[in-house]
Amino acid sequence: MNNRNNGHYARHYAQSIAEPEVYWAQQALQVDWYRPPQQTLQTLPDGTHRWFADGQLNTCHLALDLQIEQGRGDQWALIYDSPVTDQQACFTFNQLRDEVARLAGLLRQLGVEKGDGVIIYMPMIPQAAMAMLACARIGAVHSVVFGGFAPHELAIRIDDLKPKLLLTASCGLEFDRVIPYKPLVDKALELARFNPRRVLVWQRPQSLALLQEGRDLDWAQALHGVGPVDPVPVSSLDPLYILYTSGTTGKPKGIVRENGGHAVAMRYTMNQVYGMQAGDVWWGISDVGWVVGHTLIVYGPLMAGCTTIFYEGKPVRTPDAGAYWRVVEQYGVNALFCAPTAIRAIRKEDPQGRLLKGRDLDSLRRVFLAGEKLDSSTHEWLQQLTAKPVLDHWWQTETGWPVTAPCLGLEGHEPAPGSSNRAVPGYAVQVLDDEGRRLPPGEQGAIVIALPLPPGCSQTLWGDHERYLSAYLQAFAGYYNTGDGGFIDDSGFVHIMGRTDDVINVSGHRLSTGEMEDLTGQHPAVAESAVIGVHDDIKGQVPLALVVLKDGVEQGADVVSRELIAHMRERIGALACFNRVVVVKRLPKTRSGKTLRAVLRKIADGEAYTIPATIDDPLILEEIANALR
Ligand code: AMP
Repeated sequence: MNNRNNGHYARHYAQSIAEPEVYWAQQALQVDWYRPPQQTLQTLPDGTHRWFADGQLNTCHLALDLQIEQGRGDQWALIYDSPVTDQQACFTFNQLRDEVARLAGLLRQLGVEKGDGVIIYMPMIPQAAMAMLACARIGAVHSVVFGGFAPHELAIRIDDLKPKLLLTASCGLEFDRVIPYKPLVDKALELARFNPRRVLVWQRPQSLALLQEGRDLDWAQALHGVGPVDPVPVSSLDPLYILYTSGTTGKPKGIVRENGGHAVAMRYTMNQVYGMQAGDVWWGISDVGWVVGHTLIVYGPLMAGCTTIFYEGKPVRTPDAGAYWRVVEQYGVNALFCAPTAIRAIRKEDPQGRLLKGRDLDSLRRVFLAGEKLDSSTHEWLQQLTAKPVLDHWWQTETGWPVTAPCLGLEGHEPAPGSSNRAVPGYAVQVLDDEGRRLPPGEQGAIVIALPLPPGCSQTLWGDHERYLSAYLQAFAGYYNTGDGGFIDDSGFVHIMGRTDDVINVSGHRLSTGEMEDLTGQHPAVAESAVIGVHDDIKGQVPLALVVLKDGVEQGADVVSRELIAHMRERIGALACFNRVVVVKRLPKTRSGKTLRAVLRKIADGEAYTIPATIDDPLILEEIANALR
């Protein structure tokens, strides 16, 4: 399956760094532009870059119409498998294009035009993918908000985008529990300062939503009699989507993905990084609300002519820890992607791999894992059990596609277990110390990428370019700061050790401890707090709040803890897994008043720690260690 014409990894990598313009102009030839770009790369005075500025294309055309033109009309494009509803449905490229073209017609009828914003707050049903593609078809900008987010988070994203339209479904399903979405949307619209004119609701039989006269429309009914529309040409620099991700403050960052760079990156990713070819069956296991859902469930596989599996279920309990193996066998999946947390959950319930026995995994060539640190024991367990290569790789919402990975479409890039593998062509990954000096192999520091970032990476934040510059480009001149720490070994393999900022990773979901501290501080009994990520065997990390109560507070610590847990659930959602609050007398601080989070993390994880010289009151550490025991 390696395409021998692609040549050697080392040659590709070297050229991509030495002559990025030449390299990416060549890769851009793989894209069917309406107007091929004459300009490849522009450098702006603020240090950001623009790729293929004068190109014109349409992402939905590339994902659907072009695939049909190339003879894949009758191939499955999307296979929906939903153990939570016991439903399966398959759409060929022809069928999916027809559905999307009509939905695009409806969006137009509802007043959505090129450049307008649309919020998609939906469970993992095919209509979510159709909504994204329909927006792309007419040049509207979508912002998919993960269905597990609470109304407050949805409201923040509504106010930031000011969408013309919001698309949702009546409910989502968690194991055997129905979660009505519409009341959450109604609440978010109450909280938001801005309201879209229309809300389009896909009614699911598990729980029908009440529709508000004049604002809400029944999606299926509204589609009656609507005709299809063709893809419209958009500029390479026009945004395809906004996707919010956690930063270090309470306000999420709106990553902007531009159509042109994204199209080049998606083709490259699926072919050269993941080694997939048109006609292959690909399974990206995540949710449309995350970057993996965009890159590896919807756009990447379809734009590469692959069949994408769209799974509405969990690794376990839908109905058991054999669910993944069942899907692989049933649909002949050739490669899958998931987060390590899913594998840890499967291993916990079925450590001997009993549910895999008798399953035919012949079609499966390899398993890709990313989203959080892959521990060696999970890696080995999965590799032994499946007898397939298990490949760790590393990327972020901001980049939109892998930064380090074994490039399976390029010869000569063998994976090295225990690392996240080598830099993918286009990414000049380096390690710097606090002063911005390059560190030699093996030494740990800040992981950065020398500019320019390759096509597809976000070059701004929605409505806040200054924040993009300060969050990513300011720390080290000439570099994009990934926010991750780690080292590069002698052979060039990158080892990611964790975040250097206050972002934690819960089951592969990125969450801001800063935001949690803001919310904790809103409780009238709380004087101050520190929220840190502590190790969890299944979820990777979970938050732990250390809280100092105000003097004279009469509520008991247990009451305050319960209220804080409920508050966090209401404001961020259950996905935060905010369940541990420990009331302490004081927080450990440096003499200049900074909370010593690194030490707190070590204490909470039961690791050895040294008492920092800068601490103002060393005794407090022992008290906290006792409280956490
Ligand atoms: P997100 O933007 O939500 O995809 O989260 C990206 C962050 O997840 C990265 O900055 C890393 O901290 C972490 N991450 C992703 N992949 C890996 C990996 N293979 N190993 C370690 N951490 C990872």
